[in-house]
Amino acid sequence: MIVGSGYVGLTTGAVLAYLGHEVTLLDIDTRKVDNLQRGTLPFYEPGLSEILQDVKLNYISTWHQFDQTTDIVMIAVGTLSKTDGDVDMAAVDAVAQSLGEQIHSQFNGIIVMKSTVPVGTAASVKGRVERGLDARGIKKEVEVASNPEFLREGQALFDSFYPERIVVGTTSKQAQAILHDLYLPILQQTMQVPTVLDRPSNDIYPVFINTTSVNAELIKYTANSFLAMKISFINEFANVAEKVGADIREVAYAIGLDKRIGPQFLQAGIGWGGSCFGKDMRAIQHLAKEYGCEMSMIQATIDVNNRQREIVIKKLQETLHILRGKTIGILGLSFKPNTDDIRESPSLDILRKLLDLGACIKVYDPLAMQVCQSRFPELTVEYCENVETLFNGCHAVVLVTDWQEFRGLDYPELTRKMVKPIFIDARNVLTNEQINEAKLMYVGMGRGGLKWVKEF
Ligand code: NAD
Repeated sequence: MIVGSGYVGLTTGAVLAYLGHEVTLLDIDTRKVDNLQRGTLPFYEPGLSEILQDVKLNYISTWHQFDQTTDIVMIAVGTLSKTDGDVDMAAVDAVAQSLGEQIHSQFNGIIVMKSTVPVGTAASVKGRVERGLDARGIKKEVEVASNPEFLREGQALFDSFYPERIVVGTTSKQAQAILHDLYLPILQQTMQVPTVLDRPSNDIYPVFINTTSVNAELIKYTANSFLAMKISFINEFANVAEKVGADIREVAYAIGLDKRIGPQFLQAGIGWGGSCFGKDMRAIQHLAKEYGCEMSMIQATIDVNNRQREIVIKKLQETLHILRGKTIGILGLSFKPNTDDIRESPSLDILRKLLDLGACIKVYDPLAMQVCQSRFPELTVEYCENVETLFNGCHAVVLVTDWQEFRGLDYPELTRKMVKPIFIDARNVLTNEQINEAKLMYVGMGRGGLKWVKEF
């Protein structure tokens, strides 16, 4: 059983069912459960609806239907930030409480933490569940393992079927064996290749890392912090590159060829968004503080990322000068391509700031407009049906999300629809040829070598 049918819970459920396991998803959001039972997914993830058509998942919304013969209870509920940066553990605690109230003495399964949780959570969930059992006169030890999730939204199925590693933190050989068995077809790559996903050409098998739950919990925070740091690092250099007339893309390419550095997460731009990096770094900072450790690199990573969003506003002010009353188009709302997830999306920060500055905002996103409209009905922006409508009458357009379809647009034609052809490419998506061809007043991120086309 998987508790929580969000991005992680539903994807994991679909993948485990595809591997042949019997999977039940429990979520307290009854509307979500009703929709899932009717086949309506709560979010978009490439290939997920296709996989779900091939498998059978049970969806429930109450613990009354809990099956005591369940082998594994996976907790995949949300763990948002509190205002002080600490993790809001309300959902995890509620699940532990329910388990303490529901588990019978004959229950022989293990509990697995999939959510990203502070170090020590596996032990504290164990304590909470056992106290619940104890209160009902059941003397029983439960095993709580840690199995952090590393999937990336937009590529969640690929990451689940072809992960680089599977990390489990356990205290017993038995729990380790259960989790090893659970993932065996993935570890040995013996599962049937899903029709929606090609197997990567490299013959690399995932590494199964069995460790302590504390290590597993810290691995997740360390991984996310490092990735975020890499992005902020290149962005900090991008700002210097721009000043000295260098092209950060060339610099990033060259340093990325060094295997010690690697090419990934070196795309300079507006920085990271999404529900994980920010909250996970706030969480590790909060934890470190409790132990008197200062995490200055984490703070710098966050600061640089926040600054990148402000830089986009500055670039608009430098090129357009007066923003009040000007029409600005925003290309992209989701925090990254191939998802409709807008949690902590840079786009939202930018358009809110521009609205504050008196600009009129038009937006277009291939997937995320409906989510944005229903989640933030107060945003007075014009949602455009297509890119052509977005460019029409704009004084500037900002490309915020690097959707594939934004790469191949007919920029010369689109530019003609604008009042002024100012284009802030916050993801460095356009090639030099595209920029020249479109006669844009182009502003990238760290592309100091580029000459703006000024004849307009
Ligand atoms: P989400 O918000 O999409 O889903 C969480 C689900 O849990 C919701 O459907 C909610 O209704 C349900 N829920 C909340 N309280 C519950 C309760 N008491 N009982 C049953 N269900 C409950 O969250 P998500 O993005 O799937 O993230 C889940 C966890 O996985 C988080 O800790 C997150 O940090 C981690 N994670 C997320 C990603 C990602 O890309 N989204 C990647 C790796 C790890």
